[in-house]
Amino acid sequence: MKYEFNAEHLVKRFTAYAKINTASDERSAQLPSSEGQWQLAEHLKNELTELGLANVQVTDKCYVLAELPANTEEAAPVIGLIAHMDTSSEASGENVQVTLHKAWDGSDMQLAPGCVLSVKEFPEMAAYRGQDILTAGGTTLLGADDKAGITAIVSACEYLLQHPEIKHGKVLLAFTPDEEIGCGTDGFPLADFKADFAYTVDGGALGELNYETFNACNAKVIFNGVSVHPGSAKNKMRNAVTMAAEWQLALPQGEKPEYTDGYEGFYHCLRIEGGTDRVELDMILRDHDKNILAKRKQLLLDLAEFMNNKYGAGSVECSLQDMYCNMKEYITPVFEIVERAENAMREAGIEPQLVPVRGGTDGSRLSEMGLPCPNIFTGGHNFHGRYEYLPVPSLVKCTEVLLNIVKL
Ligand SMILES: [Zn+2]
Repeated sequence: MKYEFNAEHLVKRFTAYAKINTASDERSAQLPSSEGQWQLAEHLKNELTELGLANVQVTDKCYVLAELPANTEEAAPVIGLIAHMDTSSEASGENVQVTLHKAWDGSDMQLAPGCVLSVKEFPEMAAYRGQDILTAGGTTLLGADDKAGITAIVSACEYLLQHPEIKHGKVLLAFTPDEEIGCGTDGFPLADFKADFAYTVDGGALGELNYETFNACNAKVIFNGVSVHPGSAKNKMRNAVTMAAEWQLALPQGEKPEYTDGYEGFYHCLRIEGGTDRVELDMILRDHDKNILAKRKQLLLDLAEFMNNKYGAGSVECSLQDMYCNMKEYITPVFEIVERAENAMREAGIEPQLVPVRGGTDGSRLSEMGLPCPNIFTGGHNFHGRYEYLPVPSLVKCTEVLLNIVKL
């Protein structure tokens, strides 16, 4: 079956979302972390209500919920579709100028002085020659992560409402705040979201499908030194900076983000602060394999013990905090939901690419909480920065895939 989506209409919808600055703010103690997310939530509430979706609401924690009721008596699973409203704070999201490069001829796109999007720099762009491409104006991100996901979900529902001859079960929508700062599921109203399974629409290039994520643990390491005037420090000073340097060099040298990809996990020191007296080090440990992650955790504890023996008890304090799990463990028993997405892609003429995520998704947490939740492409590239771009045909395909997933 072939569906005709109005690409111009999708671009217009996406542009309206992109204009609202929804950058989340890690330093904020509020939930959601920024005011713009309330604005987008309100915008979506009005839009979904106008389109004719049921039970549209914004929760007190800024989650937008809505329901597309089943239009058949036939038994069908209740399927959830989820996307996040916030954008990364790594690039500005203020005053985003969505720019359409019509039938892009493959030449360099000069977005702003010093910001050129070129095939030389980003070879994967070559696949989109001849297509309409959306970018921002070179000073901000575009926000396709994840407003392309929202656009596709809303547009698929709109199409189904306009074409009642396409039969489908109940579909639940959720648009979430603060995914980019790791809080996307903190206030997720799971009790009001009674789906059998769901999909986050938050992936990258056309055809991408994810059901494997990292297992994640964060570590805080504190080095307690003894500061003495350097002129009279002999046999007295214990320099916390020296200890921290020793720590970093003691970690397996090849197992760091800059040396690993695919299924390889890593140790990553991401922040260090302090001086002779005290140094604080923030680390993240990641691995697709739970048992290997456990070994990584043990290695840090062993290293702390070793250094405490060397420098004196209490010199090194290492605390570990588990963050999220590989969703694979929860998806494998219900693997038909991955196959459902694969079939939906093939039906849309796309060969699915099963890519292990070197990170987590909202679906990692949701799967653990009992809602199995793989992740589907949005079509966007170069997320979180000024070079972000979105081929319009990929966005249209994303919409078609979602429609294929929910229809009977
Ligand atoms: Zn995202």
